Amino acid sequence: MSPVMQSLRSVDRTHVDTLLERERASYAALHPRSRELFAEARETLLAGVPMSWMAIWSGGFPLYFDKAGGNRILDVDGHAYIDFCLGDTGSMTGHSPEPVMQAVRERIETKGGITAMLPTADAAAVGADLQRRFGLPLWQFTLSATDANRFVLRMCRQIQKRDKILVFSRCYHGSVDETVVIVGADGRPQSKPGNVGPAVDPTQTTRVVEFNDTETLRAALEPRDVACLLMEPAMTNIGIVPPEPGFLQTVEELCSQTDTLLIYDETHTFSGGWGGCVEAWGLKPDIVTIGKALGSGIPIGAYGLSAEVAERILADAESDLVDQGGIGGTLAGNALSMAAARATLEHVLTKENFAHMLALATRYREGVEQTLAEFEVPWTIVQVGARAEYRFTPTVPRNGSESAAAHDAGLDEFMHLYTLNRGILMTPFHNMALMCPATSEADVDRHTEVFRDAIVELYT
Ligand code: PMP
Repeated sequence: MSPVMQSLRSVDRTHVDTLLERERASYAALHPRSRELFAEARETLLAGVPMSWMAIWSGGFPLYFDKAGGNRILDVDGHAYIDFCLGDTGSMTGHSPEPVMQAVRERIETKGGITAMLPTADAAAVGADLQRRFGLPLWQFTLSATDANRFVLRMCRQIQKRDKILVFSRCYHGSVDETVVIVGADGRPQSKPGNVGPAVDPTQTTRVVEFNDTETLRAALEPRDVACLLMEPAMTNIGIVPPEPGFLQTVEELCSQTDTLLIYDETHTFSGGWGGCVEAWGLKPDIVTIGKALGSGIPIGAYGLSAEVAERILADAESDLVDQGGIGGTLAGNALSMAAARATLEHVLTKENFAHMLALATRYREGVEQTLAEFEVPWTIVQVGARAEYRFTPTVPRNGSESAAAHDAGLDEFMHLYTLNRGILMTPFHNMALMCPATSEADVDRHTEVFRDAIVELYT
C-alpha cells in the first residue's frame, strides 16, 4: 500500500467536526420553511413533532415534506430528493403507487366505507396471497407490526403454558414491552437503558441472548420454559447483522427440539424478496409477523400461523380472543387497509418488481464497495434483498452488542446531512437504503456519486 493510501485509512476527527459544521449550516440555509414549521409546532406538539422519533433527523430540526410520489419527495422549501428511506419500509412500494391509489379511491369514493366492524372480500384475498408467499396457512390482521408481535407473544404464552419468551440483544420489534431488553456489558440481561416506564422488569418475562451465538441460545432454550423465540431472520434495527451460515437452521432445530415456537418478524426483511427472507432462504417458522409496506403506507399489520398453532389457539377454551382478553383493535382488518394491502400485493410488491429492486440494491452495494476499495476506507456494507446498509467498521458485526459498539455519531450525522444536502434521503436512524419499484439505475448511480464525493472529503 502506498504511503498516501496508508494515510487515507483513518479519519481525522477534527476534520469530521469541521465538515459536519459546514453541512449543518448548509442544511439550515437550505430549509428555512422547515425550520419555521418546526418552531411553530413546538407550541403544540411534544418535542415539536407528531411522533417523538421524528425529532431525530440530523441537522437540528426535521425536514418537512410537502409532496411525494414513487421514490421522490418534495420538501416544503421546494427541494426534491431521491428517497432511499421510503418511510423506513412503510413505502417500500414507492409513495402512493397508482394501483393502490386506485383501490383506495374505489374503496372510499366509489363504494364508500372505511371501517364497519364487518369484513370485506379483500381480506381473504390478502390471506391467500400471504399464504403463498410465506407458506403459512392462516392469517390475521392488526394496524401495525407492533400489534402483530404483541398479539402473537400473548397467543404463544397462552397455548404453550410457558411464561418466558426469548429475543436477541438489540432487537427491535416495535414498542413491545417484553422485547425492550438487552445483554448488558457484564453479559447479563438487563432492561434496555431508556426503557420508558416498564410495567414489569423485562428480564422477568424475557430471556435474551446474542445473535449468531448458538451455545447461549441452546442453554436459554434448554429449561423448556420459553414459549417462543421472536426474531428477525437478519437483524435490521441495530444496523444490519446477517445470520452466519447455518445459524438459522440451528435456530430452527433448537426450537423444534425444545418445543419452542419460532416467530420470524419479516416487517423489514420483507425486503429479502417476494416472500421475504422466509421464502428466499427457505425458512420454516411457526409464525410470521409483518406490517409497514403491506398497505403501501396505509396502516396494517398481519400475522400468519401454522395449521398446528392455529388449531391450538382456537381449541383453547380459556382464552378470550373476541372480547376483552387482550387481543384487540377496533380498526384492525378495516376495509381501507385490506383494499390497500390487496392492491399492494397483487400489483406492486410482485415478483417482477422485487427482481428490479434486488438488482438495484446489488448495484447500490457494489457502488459503495467500489468506492470503499478505491480509497481503502475501512467500512463495510451488507445487503438484505432490496435493502443495503453501510457501517463505519471494517468487519460486519456478528451480533447486536458488536453492532451497537460500532456506532459513530459524528460520521453518521455527517453522511446523513451530506447526502441530504445533495438531494438524497437516507433512513434517519442509520445508513440504510431501500429500493422500491420506482427506483432507477440513475438514482442509484447518483447515490454512488454523492457517496464517493463524501468519502473524498472525509479521507483526502
Ligand atoms: N418489527 C420490526 C422488525 C421493525 O423494524 C419495526 C419498526 N421499525 C416493527 C416491528 C414495528 O413496526 P410499527 O412501528 O410499524 O408497528
